[in-house]
Amino acid sequence: MVDTKAWRAEVRAWLEANCPASMRLPITPEEMVWGGSQLRFGSEDQRLWFERMRERGWFAPDWPSAYGGGGLSAKQARIVEEEMLALGCRQPQFNLGVWMLGPVLLEVGTEAQKQQHLIPMMQGRVRWCQGFSEPNAGSDLASLRTAAVLDGQGHFVVNGSKIWTSYGDQGDWMYALVRTDPSANKQAGISFLLIDMKTPGITVKPIELISGKSSFCEVFFDNVRVPADQLVGQLHDGWTVAKKLLQHERSAMSKFSEGAAPSHDALAVALPYLYDQAGALREPVWRDRLAALLMDSHAFTLTHQRVKQEAMAGLPIQGPASIMKLVQTEQEVAKYELLTQLMGLRGLSWEGDAFSADEHAISRLLLLSKTYIISGGSSEIQLNIIAKRVLGLPG
Ligand SMILES: Cc1cc2nc3c(=O)[nH]c(=O)nc-3n(C[C@H](O)[C@H](O)[C@H](O)COP(=O)(O)OP(=O)(O)OC[C@H]3O[C@@H](n4cnc5c(N)ncnc54)[C@H](O)[C@@H]3O)c2cc1C
Repeated sequence: MVDTKAWRAEVRAWLEANCPASMRLPITPEEMVWGGSQLRFGSEDQRLWFERMRERGWFAPDWPSAYGGGGLSAKQARIVEEEMLALGCRQPQFNLGVWMLGPVLLEVGTEAQKQQHLIPMMQGRVRWCQGFSEPNAGSDLASLRTAAVLDGQGHFVVNGSKIWTSYGDQGDWMYALVRTDPSANKQAGISFLLIDMKTPGITVKPIELISGKSSFCEVFFDNVRVPADQLVGQLHDGWTVAKKLLQHERSAMSKFSEGAAPSHDALAVALPYLYDQAGALREPVWRDRLAALLMDSHAFTLTHQRVKQEAMAGLPIQGPASIMKLVQTEQEVAKYELLTQLMGLRGLSWEGDAFSADEHAISRLLLLSKTYIISGGSSEIQLNIIAKRVLGLPG
């Protein structure tokens, strides 16, 4: 039985002693430390915080220590998360591997796959990218056509292309969905493969967006040979594995308000705009809208905590993960829409440090928030899942 009070005190003392003050300030996209072969630190504090958390295994506190995790129980790990949140500690490493692939490998990976992949991602040496979407397979993901054929010599030969691969140009490895049985029903002929991005035959092409910047890439596969032991789960049963992974992706996205992504404190930004210089309320309607937003956000936090308790108790969370992802990402959009309206022309300003903590960041984060309601399955798709799987409505 865990003495939660003593554990909480121990965690807090450790975090206070080891998390540098600058690592407790709200994070900006430029300050996110992505693990991988191109690992870079922007400051000594970032490096210290990364290394200290890595040594403790607290990139994933509840993973077994044999795979680089903290070896904690779900309850102990939750306390670590809560204390990090209370002290405003940043996530020390951002890595799709740790958030999404790792939990899936722990559940269905072979021992060899766990040994090969979990420890490097936990040490921040390997960055993962996600190869799911294709030009005609986004929401309707099961229509994907990238083909993988077993060559009889212990390899899959992969041909096709992926699109919207976030940071595909910086990924060391990709977890991908490929079609292994073209004659089977859509979902039935898909497999889940782990692909080394250095394999001959892979071409990565960044997609330039209207802003001139992009994290998106197209990835092309031309007779790419992938060892058969990089198949996760059963052949042709990748859809089952993908559903598990998407559940982790949606859970990760529902933690955005807990510091997992750059975000503003709505109240702190709004307050100077609500009152005039004499301290009088400018317009009651803004206060009402802000109060409603903060209440929604608080209600979400409480519901999120309840869902986490249910997950810890081993209850299925696939439906709740969709609800949490939908509500959290839509709330981020609502927050930034309200802030830009409240700030008037200043809310539209674009100059200055991109994503800095000042008001220049607001319009950019408004645009960023709009991407959250598409990635990981759009809001409409989450609504469909909730209607079908949670409410049991007919298709
Ligand atoms: C920031 C960002 C990062 C991403 N990163 C990755 C990545 O790393 N790897 C990866 O594989 N993919 C990635 N994606 C792609 C993402 O998964 C897809 O954009 C998403 O699944 C939607 O697919 P689509 O763009 O093809 O739109 P479509 O599927 O064409 O949808 C267009 C519109 O139609 C609506 N719609 C579609 N079907 C239905 C339906 N049945 N009912 C109601 N409405 C429907 C959608 O909600 C949407 O509004 C990323 C996307 C974004 C925005």
